[in-house]
Amino acid sequence: MKENVFLDSPKEYSLEDYMNHTVNGRGNLGQEVPIEVYRLLEYSLREELEERFGKECQVEIMRCAGRRAGIFFARNLLDVTLPLQEFVAQLQAKTAELKIGVIRIEKLDEDTGKIVLTVSEDADCSGLPLLGETVCNYDEGFIAGIMSAYTEKEYRAVEIDCWATGDRVCRFLVEVKE
Ligand SMILES: [Zn+2]
Repeated sequence: MKENVFLDSPKEYSLEDYMNHTVNGRGNLGQEVPIEVYRLLEYSLREELEERFGKECQVEIMRCAGRRAGIFFARNLLDVTLPLQEFVAQLQAKTAELKIGVIRIEKLDEDTGKIVLTVSEDADCSGLPLLGETVCNYDEGFIAGIMSAYTEKEYRAVEIDCWATGDRVCRFLVEVKE
């Protein structure tokens, strides 16, 4: 396992600890929060990061955070031993089940590992106004992190279409980083 792919470092608490929400849980309120709450967190964080560190740094932080989440997701919620086609099918099922979005595969090259996929009903951006730029940097990292954890190669995902650029799906070009 290559160190640079997984960003693992010794920490007092890990992402795993914060995910432990069922113990002493939410007996009355349950496991879900509305999309407004998710977006409030995401976009307030983006604004704060941009004000403090500038746009470029904000984008990079969101992407890197998404990457951490993607690695966690793949390791804890997916079976990374499956062959590629089955792995992708499992990913589609899990992201729909968890209401992250609906993934469709447009191209999948088994030799190069290059994938073009769309996410519709995306939790991060569906319904956003035309902002003139793609906004799903967290998703870019998330998808890249999942594929990196699966292949143990460093992946990159670039969003080429988004609700915020006038499309009705987010489209990602996903490939091994050179
Ligand atoms: Zn998007």
